[in-house]
Amino acid sequence: MSRTGSVVELTTGVHAVLGGVNAGIIEAPDKTAVLVDSGQDKEYGKRIRRALADLGLTPTVLICTHSHADHYGGNAYLLGQFPDLQVLAPPIEANIIRAPELEPIYLFHGAAPLPELQSKWLKAPASPVHREIEAGRVTVGGVDLELIDVRGHAHRQMGVLVAGVFLAADAVFGPETLTRYPLPFGQDIAWQLASHDTVASVQATTLLPGHGAPTSDIEGIADSNRRAVGSAVAAVESCVGSAESGHSTEDVLAMCGVTLGLDMDDLARYHLNYCTVSAHLGYLRSEVRVTAHLAAGRLTWRRAS
Ligand SMILES: [Zn+2]
Repeated sequence: MSRTGSVVELTTGVHAVLGGVNAGIIEAPDKTAVLVDSGQDKEYGKRIRRALADLGLTPTVLICTHSHADHYGGNAYLLGQFPDLQVLAPPIEANIIRAPELEPIYLFHGAAPLPELQSKWLKAPASPVHREIEAGRVTVGGVDLELIDVRGHAHRQMGVLVAGVFLAADAVFGPETLTRYPLPFGQDIAWQLASHDTVASVQATTLLPGHGAPTSDIEGIADSNRRAVGSAVAAVESCVGSAESGHSTEDVLAMCGVTLGLDMDDLARYHLNYCTVSAHLGYLRSEVRVTAHLAAGRLTWRRAS
């Protein structure tokens, strides 16, 4: 692994642009490149452009792994620099990338979102998506790669396996991120747990998470994420009420905040955690471990008897 500034060559022809969020540059024939994600904003897009210039590459394809704003916020800038760039994304994720206001809208339960939910971390500039992608082996931009379904953190998230490197997006987080966010963001917990098994089974020598350092310990990072989400499931389950008397989603969230030591001092973080707790409650209900009790206009969650 060689290092130039914050650009690291993970294996011959596969580079990582490292930062608060990570992106990938895959060398393709005729000095072209396939990009994987574009970072959180225009500045990150500029970093990718500089890395491309240093490598002498022109990008032809940009694969977006999922629609969280910090992973496609550089799209608009890069499209301005490289107008022929073809943007690829999974279904559903593609719709949000095209209409970025949908992320703050869903975080505020479908209502017109609070201004605090419209920062660059939660709403990126709109970007076209030229083609929607499905899991499987494909050739894009002249590169043979495999798109791997790692949905759960986001509804239809996809990872990219190329030349023994797995660009895993947010299917797994590095250890510092897990320590900082003990309730890992998830939108579909059954799939999120399954995605850890998928990550562990990928035949790769190096994994690049969306946040954190590249690692060769793929089973290790899958396991630490499996344990983190497992702890979150246990925390949410312990915070629902008894079989006779339940707690509201807000109460479960507040109690989990204490149990897990969550940092919830701003409206954005509160609503991200609210979304994840809702995903956990839906998962526990589907597992018949929790029931939804609706009475007198009040929804409470109870331990299944
Ligand atoms: Zn994400």
